[in-house]
Amino acid sequence: CAGHVNWDVTLSVDRLPGADAEATITDQSQSCGGSASNAATGLAALGNDTTILGSVGDDENGHLATRALDSAGVDCDPLVVADTETAVKYLVVDPAGEVAVLGNEGGNEAFGADDLDDAILAAADHLHLTSQDPDTAAELADRAHDHGLRVSFDPGRRIDARDFTAPLARSDLVFVNEREASTAIEDHFGPADGLDKTVVLKHGAAGAEVLTPCGHYASHDGFPVEAVDTTGAGDAFAAGFLTAWLDGDAEPDFDRCLAVANACGALAAGVRGPSPPLSWDRIEDLLDT
Ligand code: ADP
Repeated sequence: CAGHVNWDVTLSVDRLPGADAEATITDQSQSCGGSASNAATGLAALGNDTTILGSVGDDENGHLATRALDSAGVDCDPLVVADTETAVKYLVVDPAGEVAVLGNEGGNEAFGADDLDDAILAAADHLHLTSQDPDTAAELADRAHDHGLRVSFDPGRRIDARDFTAPLARSDLVFVNEREASTAIEDHFGPADGLDKTVVLKHGAAGAEVLTPCGHYASHDGFPVEAVDTTGAGDAFAAGFLTAWLDGDAEPDFDRCLAVANACGALAAGVRGPSPPLSWDRIEDLLDT
């Protein structure tokens, strides 16, 4: 799982910035975050041997983030410890669980494709790319394909700010939410090109749908949950989808992939913080409802 590792500072507020009145902070919490970190934590919790590719700074936040990932069962050996500050992301979350990013401080993208040992790829089944330097993502995808791995990509909100054409073109499976979909589909796939990869479209509380290059379509409603903080819901969703997708050699059961993914997304939305405590017991409880 490749991409960003942050230190997240989350302020709970009674209203998001931009509303008429000033927001009041009701609570504050800190945790390891970042799309790669969230997805890797979810993948490990669901029983996958998971290695994270990325970088942290050689500072207290970097050490805390690495320890958190390590204790979540994620192999942190390839993490590059850079001579810069670990990224700190400031988030606000309102009582309905809606999240706004206030800003980022520090941060680096010190992990390059050359930092990846071939032995890690040789032992892996799959590479999941999250938002990161597009050139690095493309190179990682090429190297993963050379080793026979399949590649998924969740570009996240940075799809508006960076040109992800190269890594998108190299991905076998792409996750996008509604906001990202228009950019991804119009700019990177092009209606005339036809679909050459599996696309998973997330609709927040309403659930998700999937379309494959051979025309297979599936959709699944979301699970009702009292949303507390939707940070990391998309990353938990990806962890659930990939775990079901990679389960067995047979043609993926896309209904199950979406059901497990929606359950993971709902579990993430229902708790504070970016990395929900995912477990198969909780997922199966939701699937039985
Ligand atoms: P992203 O977090 O990438 O923006 P979404 O907001 O669409 O993506 O959320 C990802 C997934 O998390 C959804 O497809 C859904 O399964 C789940 N999810 C998100 N918000 C809620 C919610 N309020 N209630 C239930 N499930 C949710």
